[in-house]
Amino acid sequence: MGFISTANRKRPQDFNELEGQDFVVTTIRNAIENNRFAHAYLFAGPRGVGKTTSARLLAKSLNCKHGPSIHPCNKCESCVGITASSSIDCIEIDGASNTSVEDIRRIKSDIMYPPSSRFKIYIIDEVHMLSNSAFNALLKTIEEPPDYVIFIFATTEIQKVPQTIKSRCQFFRFKSIGQDLVKGRIRSLCDELGMSIDDQSLSYIARESEGSMRDAYTIFDQLSSFCGKSIVFGKIEKELLLTPYEKIADILSLAVKEDAKGILETFFDLQRNGVQNEQFVSDFAFFIRCLLLHKSGISDRDMTYFSPEVLSRPDFASLTPDNLNLILDDLLKLYRDMRYSINPGFDCELFLANLARIRMRLSNFEIAKRLAAYERSSSDGDSDSDSGEAAATIAQPAQARPVGTVSPTRPESAAKRAASSSRAASRHQADAPSVKAPAPERADSGKAEGSATDSDMVGDVSNYDVAAEDAFFDVFKDDLIN
Ligand SMILES: [Zn+2]
Repeated sequence: MGFISTANRKRPQDFNELEGQDFVVTTIRNAIENNRFAHAYLFAGPRGVGKTTSARLLAKSLNCKHGPSIHPCNKCESCVGITASSSIDCIEIDGASNTSVEDIRRIKSDIMYPPSSRFKIYIIDEVHMLSNSAFNALLKTIEEPPDYVIFIFATTEIQKVPQTIKSRCQFFRFKSIGQDLVKGRIRSLCDELGMSIDDQSLSYIARESEGSMRDAYTIFDQLSSFCGKSIVFGKIEKELLLTPYEKIADILSLAVKEDAKGILETFFDLQRNGVQNEQFVSDFAFFIRCLLLHKSGISDRDMTYFSPEVLSRPDFASLTPDNLNLILDDLLKLYRDMRYSINPGFDCELFLANLARIRMRLSNFEIAKRLAAYERSSSDGDSDSDSGEAAATIAQPAQARPVGTVSPTRPESAAKRAASSSRAASRHQADAPSVKAPAPERADSGKAEGSATDSDMVGDVSNYDVAAEDAFFDVFKDDLIN
């Protein structure tokens, strides 16, 4: 016999084996035990979480010679036929390739012939792909089918299924499989096969599978085919040309030290080792996301993935969540833009060169906060020294100081500039409203994707009053003119 994929080999043959979908299993078990069957079921959820498997299990439970039973025998003609997809009373239809009204009409005429088993069961996979007229043709049939007919629909995109269909079905929402469950299953699979696997590889499979058990088994098959009996992450990293995370951490440390040359050299080194640009950006984004979660106080390793030692490098201490938000935002845009780039490598280099100045950049939120503080102090008619302090706060990024520290240098000139600008600011005050409340997140700022001046070193101030912007530039005007 040829190779059978693990996903097929490990497909649950009993509801007891279907883990992670307790609500679905309990409800179906009760329905079968109480002989209360619906005419139509709708299974919705992400890919690879057991929808089609559950549909087949339900079909088996209903038609098993020794049933209806929650534990089908898996031996009778009906059970064997359903497992092999050859049962004449359990018809599996792929919604993606049978979308027309003609296809549905064929089902409607076929329905008139009674089954040889207890029920005639139609499993329609990816039901959201049916055309509107096909859905309409289906409506009447699923509302009043012959007693012996049961429909089971499965979909990954429930929002595309019309409400008229949903309201005629018993609806089950399938959940993503938790990372612990994925890891546990892969670990016991390795035990069963006499293989070894390290924790990092397990975490890698759990992360890449994104809650789909089928994907997890597929990745496992691939890894075991080139790692043999012992799956170690170091080998996976090399074979799959992943970006070694120490290198990403190194790049971030170099960014803190504003060492653009070091950053680019590390990147070129990765390129020479075969790491693809897309892979690099995707791995980098993942690392930053984990670091952000860690900085937000989340310690769940399922979420932060890396050990606290990796994420707590002393170099990273001066990076604020704001800095990391900006980096992640840049990476996500970079990944989208690379498709249309004349040379994606150039885009990566540009991003990395800018990364060395990350601590000089301020988010919209930070700019708005500082402008508001500045405006408050000038509108209160405070003394020069207070204005000087506010101006010094705003002036920080221009002097490349870590965010949050107060500049000890040039207080006199800052105070002088602020004093001259406070007049201008109060002039603006007379005819301009105060600074608008800052947008809490960049994503909410309503800014169109790909807006041109986005990576300006001072950030995007397009959301704020012109008057406030003027006041901001008043503070810097000496610097700008000189
Ligand atoms: Zn059976």
